[in-house]
Amino acid sequence: MSNANAGNNIKVVCRFRPQNSREIREGGVPIINYDENGETCRMEGKEFQGNFTFDRIFPPETTQKAVFDESIKPIVDEVISGYNGTVFAYGQTGSGKTHTMMGNMDDDEFKGLIPRIVEQIFASIIASPSTIEYTVKVSYMEIYMEKIRDLLNPQNDNLPIHEEKNRGVYVKGLLEVYVSSIQEVYEVMKRGGSARIVAYTNMNAESSRSHSIFVITVNQKNLTDGSVKSGKLSLVDLAGSEKVGKTGASGQTLEEAKKINKSLSALGMVINALTDGKSTHIPYRDSKLTRILQESLGGNSRTTLIINSSPSSFNEAETLSTLRFGMRAKSIKNKAKVNAELSPAELKALLKKAKSDAVSFQQYISALEGEVGVWRSGGNVPKEKWASMEKGSNSTAPPTPTTPTNPTNPAIEAAKKEIDSRPSTPAPILEKDEREEFLRRENELTDQIADKESILANQEKLLLEMKEELDSYKDQEETITRENKQMVTELNDLKVQLEKVTYDNKESDITMDSLREANVELTNELDSLKRSLTDLRAAQKEGDKEQKKQEKMAQILAELDPTGVISAKEKQIRDTVLKLESIDSAQENVTINIEELISVRHELAESKALVSTHEQTINELHQENEHLTRKRDELEYRLNSLELEYEELLDKTIAEEEANNNIDISETIAELRGKLEAQFVAKKEVQQKEIDELKQELEKKNEELHKLNSALVDLKKANEELQIAINEKDARSESHKNVAEKEKDMERIRKTMAQQLADFDVMKKALMRDLQNRCEKVVELEISLDETREQYNNVLRNNNNKAQQKKMAFLERNLEQLTNVQKQLVEQNSSLKKEVAIAERKLLARNERIQALEALLQDAQEKLTTQNQKFEAQLQAVRERLEQARSQKSINSSSAGFNFGRIAKPIRGGSSNGPDAGSPINNSQIAQVQGKNDRRGSWLSGFRQSQ
Ligand code: ADP
Repeated sequence: MSNANAGNNIKVVCRFRPQNSREIREGGVPIINYDENGETCRMEGKEFQGNFTFDRIFPPETTQKAVFDESIKPIVDEVISGYNGTVFAYGQTGSGKTHTMMGNMDDDEFKGLIPRIVEQIFASIIASPSTIEYTVKVSYMEIYMEKIRDLLNPQNDNLPIHEEKNRGVYVKGLLEVYVSSIQEVYEVMKRGGSARIVAYTNMNAESSRSHSIFVITVNQKNLTDGSVKSGKLSLVDLAGSEKVGKTGASGQTLEEAKKINKSLSALGMVINALTDGKSTHIPYRDSKLTRILQESLGGNSRTTLIINSSPSSFNEAETLSTLRFGMRAKSIKNKAKVNAELSPAELKALLKKAKSDAVSFQQYISALEGEVGVWRSGGNVPKEKWASMEKGSNSTAPPTPTTPTNPTNPAIEAAKKEIDSRPSTPAPILEKDEREEFLRRENELTDQIADKESILANQEKLLLEMKEELDSYKDQEETITRENKQMVTELNDLKVQLEKVTYDNKESDITMDSLREANVELTNELDSLKRSLTDLRAAQKEGDKEQKKQEKMAQILAELDPTGVISAKEKQIRDTVLKLESIDSAQENVTINIEELISVRHELAESKALVSTHEQTINELHQENEHLTRKRDELEYRLNSLELEYEELLDKTIAEEEANNNIDISETIAELRGKLEAQFVAKKEVQQKEIDELKQELEKKNEELHKLNSALVDLKKANEELQIAINEKDARSESHKNVAEKEKDMERIRKTMAQQLADFDVMKKALMRDLQNRCEKVVELEISLDETREQYNNVLRNNNNKAQQKKMAFLERNLEQLTNVQKQLVEQNSSLKKEVAIAERKLLARNERIQALEALLQDAQEKLTTQNQKFEAQLQAVRERLEQARSQKSINSSSAGFNFGRIAKPIRGGSSNGPDAGSPINNSQIAQVQGKNDRRGSWLSGFRQSQ
């Protein structure tokens, strides 16, 4: 293995990790055998058995330090010397790529290659002479879904790739951070790592599907001769090389999966094209990864590929494909060169040389021209006299021309070399000017594409946000609608309540009215009751009178019933008369027997007794009549006196009342007096009438009495006649003489008797009627007497103070009761009024409350709408600001992120640097340098020092 070969070819090292617990669990066994020389291993798989040889093979137990020392350390020295270097880690997910590249940064034993490289770089810088000034800058990016994201400025997530003639391929707008210590590098790496984690958590993706590229650029300036060198080391942790199908790109569509693996498959294609020896076109532009790493694959770079594999049978297929990939990559040839700019001295020397060259060329040309002149003129120039470069430069003879195919101009040489060191751009091969034009155009287009892509992405994001916002608005609207509905129902409830209250109010109004009416009715009723009370009192008196009259009549009639006696006697007389008639009829044929005669006598005697009793009765009646008349007179007298007394009493009472000045009572009394007077007058009249009638009847009775007396006389006469007749009959019975005479007499007697009887009958009837009338009259008189007496007593009582007081008390009681009732009614009325007032007040309050609620509701709704509007306006403003910020960011992208990194921190070799030797940072030399303008930094530092 020659040194030149080793320098040009891609170096491939292979690292096997120990079997992991999963592989052991799944029954995986190691299938790799390692050769002692450390370059070959043998795979003893089921599918494949064979050897693989790489520049170095690290078995599972190899330490991190050993991997670094034996594979990467030389690259670091080359980068310090001005070469570009690239380290790739390739392998399936979990094969140890990150472990190898980064490891555990904070652990001395387990830290990976990158920390060790950084340490090595700074150690080399410090160890270098102080005449060389270094600046170190780092950038950190990743490629995911064919988009370049700046991990140090994560907002830039779709950076374009540019290519320029002198600068080569670079990512435009990528933040490069100046660092002056290992710690600063670590900080930058950690920040980038955390940005990665955040991004993946947000995207719900796996970091193993992205390629991460950490770039360290070391610029050095020799302060003695002003020469400048720069070396760039790219550390690439590739995405997992496994097939998508095996692990399954979680949540990704096939299209996305293809995109994820596009860079990796393009890497394979580039490697194939570079190594098959036939391809004229290398498809670097097929993916972002291959484009960025164009210089590292077949270009100006010292490249090391670390392939990471599992030694387990469980991952045989992946291990095999990884090892084959490594084998292919091994044969890629690079043309690495030092990126140097010549110092002025070197340039001066070059100029001097060029000038002398020009002189010698001039001499050579004139020598040639002389020779040509000889030849043209037909002369011959001997061979040894032919002009040559050596001759031209050494002699004054026409110069010997140098071979034009071997130009010695170093500038042209350098330009040619530069172009040759670049991997070829796509066919057709272009002229130099065309190529520049093409690159310019390409850069513009990539910019446009990136812009369009970021616009698209922004639009998509915006769309998503809008959708979310829309959803949230919909939700809000839903809640608002719900609330609205609720409010509407509440409002309806309130309305219903209001209506109810209004209704209640109306009802209570109505009740109030009805109560008022009832009150009026009750007052009326009270008045009518008062009236009826007085009426009733009067009526009661009347009724009592009637009843008494009837009772008295019944009593008197019971006492005086003469009809029974009279009628019995009358019957006897009638019988006797009938007998006498029968005697008369039988007189012609039959003789009257003695017994009959005796019975007639008997009857006669009885008649006599009857007549005497009648006489007695008449006498009694007479007496009674007289007694009655007396009584009547007496009554009349008493009545008159009573009237007088009553009038007196009335006057007296009126006077008293007037004295008392009690209008109410006087009214009552006046009323009473009026009534009493009316009554009295009516009674007086009635009594007067009755008295007149009684007088008339008395006269009638006297007449009847006379008639009775005359009838009695007649009866006596008839009786005597009968006696005589009987005596005669006695005589006749003895001699039966004068029968005819007797018969005549008998006839006469009989007739008279009948006549008398009839008279008597009439008289009796009249008498009876009269008696009854009289009785009535007497009863009436007695009752009226009683009444008068009572009235008298009343008047007396009235007259009496005590009695009057009693009555007054009674009236007062009544009045009190009435007043109480009235009071109660008034109270009820007022309480009802109060209730109504309260109800009205309540109603008013409720109305106010309802109005307030409605106002509140309206307010709330208005507020909500204004808030919504405000919120929208704010959102719009925020969006605009965001948009502005984005556009500004895209303009000043490099200004964001690590502020400390924007200042170039030149570092010098430490050995002879005095007190600053320990610290790599020289604050006095701080210079603000943007991007590639490193020279400005040194200029500025020079300026500062001069001050
Ligand atoms: P990758 O980056 O390829 O997906 P990782 O570097 O994350 O894989 O490694 C997966 C696991 O295997 C990690 O836990 C890591 O510590 C472990 N691992 C990888 N290589 C080694 C090794 N050489 N020695 C010990 N452990 C290792």
